[in-house]
Amino acid sequence: MPYDLIIAGTGPAGLMTADRAAAKGLNTLVLEKRKKVTDSLMGELVTDNALKLLRVKPDSEYIGNKYTQIIGESLDTGGQIVVGKGLLGNSYLLDEDNCQEIMRERAEADGAEFRYGAHVKSVVKEGNQVVGVKYNEEEERAGLTVGADGAFSRVSETAGFTHPKWLLSYGIRWKLENCKGVDPETAYFYVARDVGLGYLWLYPRSETEVNLGIGRVPSSKENWDKLPSLLDVLKKYRKHIPELRDSKIAMQNGGVVPCAGIIPRFTDAGVSLCGNSAGQVSSIVGGGVTTCFHAGTMLAKHAKRAIDENDFSKKSIQQYEKEYRGSKLARNIQNTGKGMWAVSKYAMHNDPLDAAEIVLGQLDAKTLNALIQGNAGVSDIMTLLSDFLPMVMRIGKGYLKSIALSGL
Ligand SMILES: Cc1cc2nc3c(=O)[nH]c(=O)nc-3n(C[C@H](O)[C@H](O)[C@H](O)COP(=O)(O)OP(=O)(O)OC[C@H]3O[C@@H](n4cnc5c(N)ncnc54)[C@H](O)[C@@H]3O)c2cc1C
Repeated sequence: MPYDLIIAGTGPAGLMTADRAAAKGLNTLVLEKRKKVTDSLMGELVTDNALKLLRVKPDSEYIGNKYTQIIGESLDTGGQIVVGKGLLGNSYLLDEDNCQEIMRERAEADGAEFRYGAHVKSVVKEGNQVVGVKYNEEEERAGLTVGADGAFSRVSETAGFTHPKWLLSYGIRWKLENCKGVDPETAYFYVARDVGLGYLWLYPRSETEVNLGIGRVPSSKENWDKLPSLLDVLKKYRKHIPELRDSKIAMQNGGVVPCAGIIPRFTDAGVSLCGNSAGQVSSIVGGGVTTCFHAGTMLAKHAKRAIDENDFSKKSIQQYEKEYRGSKLARNIQNTGKGMWAVSKYAMHNDPLDAAEIVLGQLDAKTLNALIQGNAGVSDIMTLLSDFLPMVMRIGKGYLKSIALSGL
């Protein structure tokens, strides 16, 4: 094979896989449809875990800011949950461009080849074995093909992976300049009836620069259509929050995040998915950076083993999936994914605005923190459900239907 590894996509999953695989000496080709790795939405709010996996220091050019508290607030009622230093540990705003660049630079320094404007169309198969990809008008072959090409992965679709419980959160983010008097040490999550099933966030970079974003899960088209557009909600709250009133929009971007957990199977002979394509995202908060770094690091280790053993069979590649599913992070994704799926089914048959208030408006600081940190365990999920169930019972509609559909 000309390459050991072909990676489709340079989001955090593809870049981390390339960084780690090239460091292990694997002959790696990276295909990206965009023109460069930067100027894209990688995701930015992370905790220490992400820094460790990226191997960068907190006081470095890879960190845009650090928070001492995170506040969850209802914009309708003004109610607040404050996650202070005691519970929070360390929370950082990454400098996305610098983080993307360092992974690309490391991979290239270790011999990885990057091709841009390279639109992957499908995998190439010999019998049941994936042996490479078709991109643009070209074809390239490798022992292992990695689909790190996001939530609408061509690798996933053409390799035959399916995801019956697929729930996407849609998000838009503004980088705002010219803000006034922002407290740079506090990040905010907001819920509101017009935000719907999701949340608005405000992550300051400095006293004058802020990232304001919104993510929302559509429980059904009918429910989505009842709500104002994501952009209209952002516009409204830019006016509503005094510090942002005179700000300037320096950049707008967006994307989607799968948030109902890991897909049923993401490895096969000669192929593996990584990141959004596999549903490897912390479900309720939609955090994907740490989970992508974690999955990419583990995948590179298994790619090296498969190369050394010259074994790209289904059984060999599945060892990555087995180890991954046994990890704490993966179990957290599955737990929160089930919760998110149940809530979205509830919202489909009831008022979706109630569901948002139930999930995020009712959290205590400890549970909110566990979700932010990506380490919510069964007890946190039980806390969520114990808030959720009585409210649903009280409302009295759709409870049995939503639980039956959720498979909980
Ligand atoms: C608005 C918003 C805010 C977010 N904020 C945070 C946050 O603060 N913290 C956090 O942890 N997470 C956050 N996330 C989630 C996080 O960004 C994602 O989970 C993460 O980016 C997924 O990484 P990925 O590498 O799997 O996929 P992606 O980032 O989607 O990258 C996929 C890459 O593949 C390329 N590609 C796609 N199709 C093809 C093709 N056919 N051929 C070649 N290349 C292709 C794309 O151009 C892209 O570069 C946010 C998400 C959104 C939408």
